[in-house]
Amino acid sequence: RYASIGFLGLGNMGKHMATNLIAANHHVTIFDSSPQALDHFKEQKQAKIASVPQKAVADSEFVVLMLPNGKIVRDVCQSNIFSTAKKGTYIIDCSTIDVQTSKEMAELARSKQLKFVDAPVSGGTTGAEKGTLTFMVGGQPDDFKAVEPILSKMGKNIVHAGANGSGLAAKICNNLLLAISMIATAEAMSLGIKLGLNKDVLAKLINSSSGQCWSSQTYNPCPGVVASVPSSNDYNGGFASELMTKDLVLALEAAKQVKASTPLTKEATELYNQLCSNGFNKKDFSVIFKYLNEQ
Ligand code: NAD
Repeated sequence: RYASIGFLGLGNMGKHMATNLIAANHHVTIFDSSPQALDHFKEQKQAKIASVPQKAVADSEFVVLMLPNGKIVRDVCQSNIFSTAKKGTYIIDCSTIDVQTSKEMAELARSKQLKFVDAPVSGGTTGAEKGTLTFMVGGQPDDFKAVEPILSKMGKNIVHAGANGSGLAAKICNNLLLAISMIATAEAMSLGIKLGLNKDVLAKLINSSSGQCWSSQTYNPCPGVVASVPSSNDYNGGFASELMTKDLVLALEAAKQVKASTPLTKEATELYNQLCSNGFNKKDFSVIFKYLNEQ
């Protein structure tokens, strides 16, 4: 069955995700506040382009959001969606935002007889393009069942994490672990090389020892260890340091709310903040190796 879907936010991620929904023959109406984001779709002529966000929402059974941050998600929900969507419309927020805002939006949606799930993603722009994203979904079991077929056209692993906000909770826990393991890998590689070790020998030893992790094995931050990752391409492409910093701040905020102790997240946030203010904000987050190594 082909659904009518409104899609708001056609940036680096959203443009690929919407393209995959269109390729699956869904009826997709798109809107982005930046006209340039829509150029790509004007040429294709397959998506309906809405002149105002309400037009992408009014007749849709599902509304997908892929927006930069929580403030914008709140604004779009309150100004453009809640008063326009038909009763029973599913709002699927794939943006990475704070747990609290997402829970509030879910509550407000419910009061308007709309359904709301948080469904942040992992897998980056490559995963978005290939349709292999992991979706971490927070919401009621029936709502999860209803949105799963839509998400499965954009991703490979669709996981129900729990109640509203749980998808985001899982996402920020994963990303804080990733940031910390990346810093730790960078620190170990930098120290080892300064102690005279060959980078490839060191990486090989770590990867067959107990320090092995995704950051050392698949995405090593030291240039030349793994071909075709951002570190081997002057840290271009990949996952921007400023986005990682944003996710770390979200983790710190969430930790504060539930009084969880997260000393390494605090340290990681400080390091990524420094790195961003030193002009590395657009570089892939593995640039922490270069930053530490050159100090
Ligand atoms: P992006 O900045 O490229 O795209 C966001 C889009 O939203 C832009 O086109 C912007 O014009 C549009 N927008 C802003 N305000 C709007 C409004 N009021 N109405 C309609 N459109 C509006 O960002 P992105 O890289 O696509 O990321 C989107 C979200 O996904 C973020 O929350 C990000 O943290 C998360 N995320 C990104 C990645 C990644 O690798 N880029 C990976 C996982 C998760």
